[in-house]
Amino acid sequence: MSERIKQLLQRTPSEEIVKAEGWVRTKRDSKNVCFLEINDGSTLKGIQAVVDKAKFNNDDLLNNITTGASVVAEGMIVHSQGGAQDVELLVSALTLVGDCPQDYPLQKKRHTVEFLREKAHLRARTNLFGAVARVRNTMSYAIHTFFQENGFVYVHTPLITASDCEGAGEQFQVTTLDLENVPKTADGKVDYSKDFFGKMANLTVSGQLEGETYAMALKNIYTFGPTFRAENSNTTRHLAEFWMVEPEMAFCDIDGNMAVAEEFLKFIFKTVLDKNGEDMQFFDSFVQKGVIENLEHVISSPFVHMSYTDAVKILEKENDRFDFPVHWGCDLQSEHEKFLTEEIAKSPVIVTDYPKEIKAFYMKLNEDGKTVRGMDVLVPRLGEIIGGSEREYRLDVLLAKMKELGLRPEDYWWYLELRKYGSVPHSGFGLGFERAIQYVTGVGNIRDVIPYPRYVKSAEF
Ligand code: ATP
Ligand code: MN
Repeated sequence: MSERIKQLLQRTPSEEIVKAEGWVRTKRDSKNVCFLEINDGSTLKGIQAVVDKAKFNNDDLLNNITTGASVVAEGMIVHSQGGAQDVELLVSALTLVGDCPQDYPLQKKRHTVEFLREKAHLRARTNLFGAVARVRNTMSYAIHTFFQENGFVYVHTPLITASDCEGAGEQFQVTTLDLENVPKTADGKVDYSKDFFGKMANLTVSGQLEGETYAMALKNIYTFGPTFRAENSNTTRHLAEFWMVEPEMAFCDIDGNMAVAEEFLKFIFKTVLDKNGEDMQFFDSFVQKGVIENLEHVISSPFVHMSYTDAVKILEKENDRFDFPVHWGCDLQSEHEKFLTEEIAKSPVIVTDYPKEIKAFYMKLNEDGKTVRGMDVLVPRLGEIIGGSEREYRLDVLLAKMKELGLRPEDYWWYLELRKYGSVPHSGFGLGFERAIQYVTGVGNIRDVIPYPRYVKSAEF
């Protein structure tokens, strides 16, 4: 593999001829030399290539090398005369690989993220999106490292599901039926027996239920893959296609679950700070002031724990500042979550023991009969990034709960069998990967931390 610009920048000056391959970010002319900043995505800052105009005056080469062009520059690494960098490339051979006409949208000036979203196929060539891509990569790596080093098995749960589980209403349907000519049953309903799977199928909103089945054999497992929600909410925190990390642990209660969630998040944050120092400096300077110090603080202090009931007591006193006033039993909105983390705890907060009515059917019922062992991890600026719980492992309690909610046991037959054959207390959580990236980088809109965001009325590229 050819040497990357990141490595070239770490070299000490020598007479050896090295090669830089990349795209021209900027071109600057002085009387005798031309400076090209060449970037190949391995670092934020490219290498400065210094071209002696007298040597390269025989054709239009330099005129044709413009911002955005791809080039190969060869030469020696020398001490840089300018103050902005330690070393630079003194060019002895230069090739223009692909020229770049003047209508290239990323000319040197600051572009808005809104503009760049329209140019998502080119935006990775900007400082911001290059840095986001590298941090996203490091975070994926850190997630696998954390679980692999702790003995978790990576399980691939299906993306197409025919069990109409959670999130009914916000699922995307998968069908091969002819929509112009939908087959109907005698009583006028859609005849799904004619559909590809012989029944109605959807894209998954979570791999949890299938993940649980593997935890009941392998003890500790995790999934890390795309999930889909037909969210009609046009927020800066919701996508229609996003990535979720879902560990599931057998013989683990809610306390163990929270401990893993905290250790896991801190490990990811620390890995990014260790590996992406230059990118994080960029976010700190241009995206979210103080984000590095904030992460360092989070890594070194324990998360604050709070029951839902206590959280409501705190929030009720502030009701005049909220769009949605709080009362016991209501779901917490992001304005409440942000208040708890930003104003009260000034750190991530884990809220536990929510009213059973506002949480999913599978969460373990507490002794009070009113609350469940759910836990959400909330962070400043965003609110919820993790939702998790201890699962209801008692068959009779689970069946009663499903009956209460009008869920049909036969639709969940395989899930219920886990409670019949060697049931065991178990717990897990789901981390929204893009929300975690938003938190680490300070990027305000979730559409800018995934290469090609999907949301209402938008699936370009
Ligand atoms: P919210 O109330 O913020 O919509 P949720 O309660 O629907 O979240 P869960 O079903 O618990 O979320 O999903 C687990 C995690 O997945 C959430 O904590 C969040 O980080 C992430 N998440 C949920 N929905 C989305 C979405 N539409 N886009 C991106 N991430 C999401
Ligand atoms: Mn949601």
